[in-house]
Amino acid sequence: MTPALLIHGGAGAATPSALQAERRSGLTAAFEAGWDILIQGGTALDAVVQATVTLEDHPLFNAGLGSCLTEDGTVEVDASLMDGSTFQTGAVGAAKHIKNAICLAREVMTDGRHVFLVGRGAERFAREHGLPQAAADELITPRQHQRWQALRLSSGQAQRSNSEPGTVGAVALDSSGRLAAATSTGGVFDKRAGRVGDSAVIGAGTYADSAMGACSATGDGEDIIRATLARTAVELLRGGKDPAQAARTALARLTRQTRGEAGLILLDPFGRRGVAYTTESMSVALRLGSGQAFRAEGRLVVRV
Ligand code: ASP
Repeated sequence: MTPALLIHGGAGAATPSALQAERRSGLTAAFEAGWDILIQGGTALDAVVQATVTLEDHPLFNAGLGSCLTEDGTVEVDASLMDGSTFQTGAVGAAKHIKNAICLAREVMTDGRHVFLVGRGAERFAREHGLPQAAADELITPRQHQRWQALRLSSGQAQRSNSEPGTVGAVALDSSGRLAAATSTGGVFDKRAGRVGDSAVIGAGTYADSAMGACSATGDGEDIIRATLARTAVELLRGGKDPAQAARTALARLTRQTRGEAGLILLDPFGRRGVAYTTESMSVALRLGSGQAFRAEGRLVVRV
């Protein structure tokens, strides 16, 4: 089976032109990191983790290094992943000092005792399992710090609601027909300490079932949770429905039910893709080609 990979770098306001080239190269590197795994016969799970780690390590995405700040001026990350062939999942929420939340989520999944750890318990689990710890300010970029400071100085609601895209996610199909999905984020700008969004919630920000599809969502996290967006999108693939249509229908339901804005990437067991968003823009990387004709040598398309 020909593998497939689709990654995103968040949905929201348009990426400022000064940041476009760097974000483009980040998405390209992340796609290639995941794709290398898939074409060497690796698993969909490894591919989505590797693509996500690459974007978590990039300072211009809102995950890991470069995460947006809480109202306390700290970084608290959320992430989740799902293996669609085993229904194994792992998730972490509101965790501090974590460079790669997706690796921590994977460790939670592999450990298997629980599926979702938050806050101090997640941080302790990370230490006990030898995951790299970030020092107090290590994940805070000057750009995110300035943004946080500007809001404090202006007490401006307008800046808080200016939703810069930057959450990251990936969905993959491997050569054995397994589907997997992953999502990671610093959450929403100026969030309350302890707030956990959809990116950590299986069925909302992340979902995979190798018989139907895999999805990673981004956007208004509270509304995505209310609408269980990722699971809804995957369910809409039942009976071999077209992923492009399913992605649009899932978002139309979200709009109707909650008025929230979001974007999602969706992959079916044939490697057919769906990308849709109701926000101004969404960053994605994919290889051109469609359905059964999807070819390993297809042209890489990166949109920021
Ligand atoms: N969905 C993320 C959250 O609410 C934010 C985003 O995707 O931009 O935490």
